[in-house]
Order: sequence, then C-alpha cells, then structure tokens
Amino acid sequence: MAIQLLPPQLANQIAAGEVVERPASVVKELVENSLDAGATRVDIDIDKGGSKLIRIRDNGAGIAKDELALALSRHATSKVHTLDDLEAILSFGFRGEALASISSVSRLTLTSKTAEQTEAWQAYAEGSQMDVKVTPAAHPQGSTIEVVDLFFNTPARRRFLKSDKTEFTHIDEWLKRIAIARSDIHFALTHNGKLVRQYRPANTEIQSQQRLAQICGRAFADQALNIACEHDGLSLSGYLQSPHDRVITDTSFFYVNGRLVRDRLVNHAVKQAFAEHGIEHQPGYVLMLALDPHQVDVNVHPAKHEVRFHQSRYVHDFILQAIQSALLQMPTLALSEPAI
Ligand code: ADP
Ligand code: MG
Repeated sequence: MAIQLLPPQLANQIAAGEVVERPASVVKELVENSLDAGATRVDIDIDKGGSKLIRIRDNGAGIAKDELALALSRHATSKVHTLDDLEAILSFGFRGEALASISSVSRLTLTSKTAEQTEAWQAYAEGSQMDVKVTPAAHPQGSTIEVVDLFFNTPARRRFLKSDKTEFTHIDEWLKRIAIARSDIHFALTHNGKLVRQYRPANTEIQSQQRLAQICGRAFADQALNIACEHDGLSLSGYLQSPHDRVITDTSFFYVNGRLVRDRLVNHAVKQAFAEHGIEHQPGYVLMLALDPHQVDVNVHPAKHEVRFHQSRYVHDFILQAIQSALLQMPTLALSEPAI
C-alpha cells in the first residue's frame, strides 16, 4: 500500500483509542477541563453508564464563540504554547487532544459563554463529519459539554463496554478521587436522572474532614493521621490511615501537583515507614505532593496517569521522612521499639 496521510477524523479516532477507554475516561477529561477553566461547581449527568449520555456543566471561564470550533480540533490548546510551558505544567490538560478525540467517537455538543459575551454559543460535531456548526444558545457563564452515543461509530470499542452499573461505578470511583483532592469544588453526580453524589465545597478543616469521611468512610477519617510537611520546595499533605486502624482499604490515592497518578514510589515509602514499626500491612493514604513543575515530567503517557520525577530518590526520601515523622508523633508508636 502507498504511504498516505491519515484523514484527520481517522487520526483523531486513533488518538481516542489511547485517551478514551470508557465513559469514565471521558468524564475525567471533561471534568479536568472544567477545573482548568477555574470552575467552582461541576455537575455531571450520566445516562446508562455513560454510553447514552455524559453531560458536564461548569461555571468556569467559558470558551469564546470564535474558539469553539478550534477547541474541538486536535492539537488545539490554550494551556501550552512553548516548550518552556510544556516543561512547567500545572494544568491538567496540555495535549489539546481530549475534545477532538471524544468528538470523533460520539455526538458532541459544546455550549459556552464567556464573561465578556452577552450571548452563549453552541458547537456541534458528530463522529465522521468534522465540520462544526456554531449556533446561538442559552447558557450562563461557563460551559456544558454533552457527549451522546459514545463509540456509536467504533463498534469494537462499544462492545468492550461493561454493564451500565459497572461503567457508572468507574465514573463514581474516579470522581471520589478527584473530589478528595479538590474539596474546594462543588460536585454533583446523577445517574439516569437520580442524584447519586453531592460533594459540597469544603472551606474549613472540619468540612474537608467531612468530605474525607463521605468518601473514605468515617473510621478512616476519624483515625487518619494528618500529614503536612514541607522541605526545600517539596510539600506533602493529606491523610494516612492510622496504624491502629487495621481495616483493609483500597484507598491509596497519590496526587502530584493536583494530578492523580500511579506511582510505586509513594507506596514503597509508606510501606517502608510502617515496616520500621513492625507493621506489615499496606495502610491506606491520600497524599498530595506539590513541587516545582520543572522537577516533574507529566508528558509520559496520553492518559496522563504517570509522571517522572527528575530526582525520584530525593522525592522518595522526602515522602518517607514525612511519614516517619507523622508516625513518631503517635505516642503509642513512639514508645514501641522499632522492628529490626
Ligand atoms: P487540553 O485540555 O489539553 O488543552 P482539550 O481538548 O481537553 O485539550 O481542550 C481544548 C481547549 O478547549 C482547552 O485548552 C481549553 O481552552 C478549551 N476548553 C475545553 N473545555 C473547557 C471548559 N470546560 N471550559 C473552558 N474551556 C475549555
Ligand atoms: Mg483537556
């Protein structure tokens, strides 16, 4: 076969293969866009596990009328303009791919109003046709993105969807993770018209604690150790399951500059600190690491689940020490001899 450039639509669908695995990945990308746009409230409506409808409404900055079509095209982003920007990412997005990918495998409507505009506008893109129509609409400041019939034109992907209940559980689980880290944001989640979760904004320590209890359970929240440690440009905050709380939990959430990532480094540090006290089980944690964005590469994987630290040993030891000192402040543990 002769070499040919892929038609843009097909290129987008190929990219969608990496970014849009299932409805929960659509919700992730869209909610992250809302947070990047400075929203304080995000409403998520799901029908049939997301295969019928995913609707995300926010009160963020909105998208200007003449940028609506651009927002839907690939490699179009307002978040990165130079290589320097790419090396210091603090936003969730930077690839300019999510809206293009999602709209290539669904029927997508984007409605938005900026503070400067007096009217809202709507853009519609459907699967194979990439011509975007822009029409007037009614909408307060912010954006609503509606994704209908996900994977309607990629039957192989559609077949891989699990039951509505399972797909919804993935969405719910992901939202829990983001809602813990962003307790300042009001989130509401509905499924088939029924309100399933409501996370009210937490402005005080007590309210943050309440949100933690809502998500990780009362026992975890009541007994968790608070972590707050800073050293030389690194800061770690969050919660660590108490060594006295032997309930097995799968709460192990780690965030780097607000982004939920999978990284063995933190697991290792937590385990090591506990092992020093003779505790062999894997404790739960919700830990947020903040560091100079130049010190971490977030452009490792299209789904942005992974990061690379420039000085990973240093970061590991910092986390280890932060947890060691939290454990030492527990009177009963401090008295017991460390295991050899
Ligand atoms: P990225 O987030 O990597 O920039 P996306 O395809 O997710 O790429 O979004 C493209 C652009 O559309 C963003 O850079 C942003 O300018 C705009 N955008 C997307 N969603 C929203 C939203 N909810 N509110 C405001 N702007 C948005
Ligand atoms: Mg994005």
